[in-house]
Amino acid sequence: MTEDGAAAVAAVEAVAERIEAERDHLTDLDSAIGDADHGGNMARGWAAAAEEARDLDDPDAEAVAKTVGKTLMSEVGGASGPLFGGSLVFAAAELDDGVDAETAVSFAETYLEKVEDRGDARIGDQTMVDALTPAVHTFKKSIETDDRPPIEALAKAVDAAERGVAFTVPIRARKGRASYLGWRSVGHQDPGATSTLFILEELLAVAADR
Ligand code: ADP
Ligand code: MG
Ligand code: MG
Repeated sequence: MTEDGAAAVAAVEAVAERIEAERDHLTDLDSAIGDADHGGNMARGWAAAAEEARDLDDPDAEAVAKTVGKTLMSEVGGASGPLFGGSLVFAAAELDDGVDAETAVSFAETYLEKVEDRGDARIGDQTMVDALTPAVHTFKKSIETDDRPPIEALAKAVDAAERGVAFTVPIRARKGRASYLGWRSVGHQDPGATSTLFILEELLAVAADR
């Protein structure tokens, strides 16, 4: 297995474990403004994704990302399955030359573009986009302008995502199920932004370990 492939499988396993640990937390968030299935959707999807990734024969990072994306698309369902899964399948192609600072930036940007294309949400709509957008922009800017190791750019991206999650609380949902609540969505933390943060935190932990 390539080094990138092994790291990618480790990352997927770490995410699956974290999402399982946060299952009830994510479900509680979704029960306040949605249909109480985000924890179950994500836990089922990531457990299956980890299994599929482990079963790959000598994968590189692109193959792992593609497999995880396809598995999330078929297992997660709801609004978030195609957003997380479909965008990952699409962005995976950016890793065909392996993972380095430059390909990681194009991967992240392509992923965000795809989420925006598919879901038509932008910053301020109280969705996963509120965590993802500042994370991706911060990551890119830090890679391009800080003369520091890429792991520090990823750490800054995680901080930005955390602020993005907090930003979902005082705003009103304009996409997804929570938008049906209108002003009653104000005061609630978005589940998909929260799971996005957990995923980024695990990517950082695995990258820091290597
Ligand atoms: P469902 O709402 O179909 O039950 P989930 O509960 O798994 O699906 O996921 C809900 C999350 O999906 C929300 O918290 C939000 O972050 C995200 N989401 C929903 N609709 C959109 C959209 N149009 N664009 C971006 N993200 C969205
Ligand atoms: Mg839901
Ligand atoms: Mg649902």
